[in-house]
Amino acid sequence: GVFAAARDITEIKQAEDEIKRQAELLNLTQEAIIVRDMDSKILFWNNGAVKTYGWTMEEANGKITHSLLQTEFPVPLKEVNKELISKGQWDGELVHTKCDGTKITVLSRQVLKKDDGGNPLSILEINSDISERKKMEEELEFAGKYNRNLIETSLDPFVTIGPDGKITDINGATEAVTGYSRDELIGTDFSDYFTESEKAREGYKQAFRDGWVIDYPLEIKHRNGHITPVLYNASVYEDEFGNVIGVFAAARDITELKRAEVEKQKLLEQAQQFAEELEVSNEELQATTEELQAANKELKFASKYNRSLIEASLDPLVTIGPDGKITDVNKATELVTGYSRDELIGTDFSDYFTESEKARASYQKVFREGMVIDYPLEIKHRSGNVTPVLYNASVYENELGDVIGIFAAARDITERKKAEKMLKLKLEELARSNAELEQFAYVSSHDLQEPLRMIGSYLQLLQRRYHGELDDKADKYIDFAVDGASRMQNLINDLLEFSRVTTRAKEFKFTDCEFILNQVLSNLEVSINENEAIISHNHLPTVMADSTQLTQVFQNLISNAIKFRSEKTPKIAISAREESDNWIFSVADNGIGIDPKHCDRIFEVFKRLHKRREYPGTGIGLSICKKIVERHGGHIWVESEPNNGSIFYFTLPINHIKN
Ligand code: ADP
Repeated sequence: GVFAAARDITEIKQAEDEIKRQAELLNLTQEAIIVRDMDSKILFWNNGAVKTYGWTMEEANGKITHSLLQTEFPVPLKEVNKELISKGQWDGELVHTKCDGTKITVLSRQVLKKDDGGNPLSILEINSDISERKKMEEELEFAGKYNRNLIETSLDPFVTIGPDGKITDINGATEAVTGYSRDELIGTDFSDYFTESEKAREGYKQAFRDGWVIDYPLEIKHRNGHITPVLYNASVYEDEFGNVIGVFAAARDITELKRAEVEKQKLLEQAQQFAEELEVSNEELQATTEELQAANKELKFASKYNRSLIEASLDPLVTIGPDGKITDVNKATELVTGYSRDELIGTDFSDYFTESEKARASYQKVFREGMVIDYPLEIKHRSGNVTPVLYNASVYENELGDVIGIFAAARDITERKKAEKMLKLKLEELARSNAELEQFAYVSSHDLQEPLRMIGSYLQLLQRRYHGELDDKADKYIDFAVDGASRMQNLINDLLEFSRVTTRAKEFKFTDCEFILNQVLSNLEVSINENEAIISHNHLPTVMADSTQLTQVFQNLISNAIKFRSEKTPKIAISAREESDNWIFSVADNGIGIDPKHCDRIFEVFKRLHKRREYPGTGIGLSICKKIVERHGGHIWVESEPNNGSIFYFTLPINHIKN
């Protein structure tokens, strides 16, 4: 048979389940649950403890809790135990060190378990890690303090306003901008402190409605009446439950900004105007710039070029500053003074001349008149040598037209001076010998006249008294002697006439050549009529001349033209024409002409081409003409061919004043 007995195990099962459930629960919780015996040895170490501290159950088991976790108590351990025994429970914050060495703060609840006899059995410790929260709290506290400082030190007025529109807090800047103290402000209506209270309230409402306002423009009234334009940024602030409990408002003083804005506007307008003007002048500027650049380039080149020119110049060139000090010299200056460029620059220019005073005078003259030309000075060489020079100098100016100095160029005229001296000597010599000659001619002709006349008269007396009383030969000889004496008399007369060109010279006056010609024609009337000469002339000018001598010239030329006629009826044309600075007079005939090879000789004294029997004369006429014309600053010549007539030319300077 079977004996079956049944035991209701519902209770047991239930108890088992309960334990299981409790253990699971213990393991499910995030909190570290530790059970330790009264010697603090760990008996139980749940998953929460593993997670919190890092040690496994096996590692923790049997260890002394406070050693393992390096527990830091807020009160001595004795106190904790005392409280555990007396009250059965202790609550507090502990600091534990984790397996990895980091410290954590835990909120700890410790519960004493007793056995049925009421003796302490074990302690249940439930620790929850509150490190994160702690850190946040600390940060929060710091941030709060920090914010408060920020807010206080801020130069912007900050204010918090309650839901009723009453000020709940302010910072120092708000006191400054309103003129009221913190105590006076708190609890009053915020909108009282604006020029437009209504608008202020509007902004406040907007912040409540939208959660914030940005750059809301208002004007804060100071108790003294001063007004500060501001921009308000405001946002609502909430309690921990998310209920709006007020508005936090920050104002930004925009006085400076506004002023800057106005300034900016002004500047912008100016800039605009300027830009317009600029645009107009820009084109001009561009053109000018281009020109300038080109000019500059040329200038640079020119200046380089000039410098080379100046250096290469054989003339001493020097620039002098307004103080009379040399600012630059060229090589030639070094040579002529014997001093180097470095020695010369900075010294007084006038030191290098024999006459310093005269040099300075020239310098002043340049400054006064802008330039000097051919100013004679003498440069002293350090050796004592003197170089005569002619200075040409002109001022030079800077780009603004201010005279900044003088540019002076000297021309060495040593050679010229030498030549001039020689010439002068030669001329003096010539003049002297000429004068001597003339004196001789005059004296001889004049003094010879008297004894000659005597010879002539006595010979004629002899001829008259004894003609036919001596033999034929004697008569012939006496005739020759008479003839010779009379010829000699003529020659001496001519010579006297010739020398009178200078000894009887008169000063030049305005002389009408038409008048002279008419006089000559009337003097020669007999000869003209005898030869039936046809004389024509075009208009003759007025010249500066010795009229007597000019009459002689015309008379000699015209009488020669008649005398040296051919078989043809003499035709004589007299004319004058201008050529450069001279009148060219011409006397043209249709006479016998002259062989060109003799054309120069006929102007010499007593030179003639014909026998006296053919054409009477002594050969002095043309030489007198030459002397007179040359005395008047002109010259005389002839163009002719035998049998083809002759043209005698002579020139006289044109007098520009009269003609
Ligand atoms: P003179 O008339 O006394 O001979 P001039 O000095 O006047 O001296 O002339 C010098 C010479 O020049 C003349 O002898 C003559 O041979 C020549 N002569 C001058 N005038 C003319 C002329 N119009 N035609 C040709 N020969 C001339």
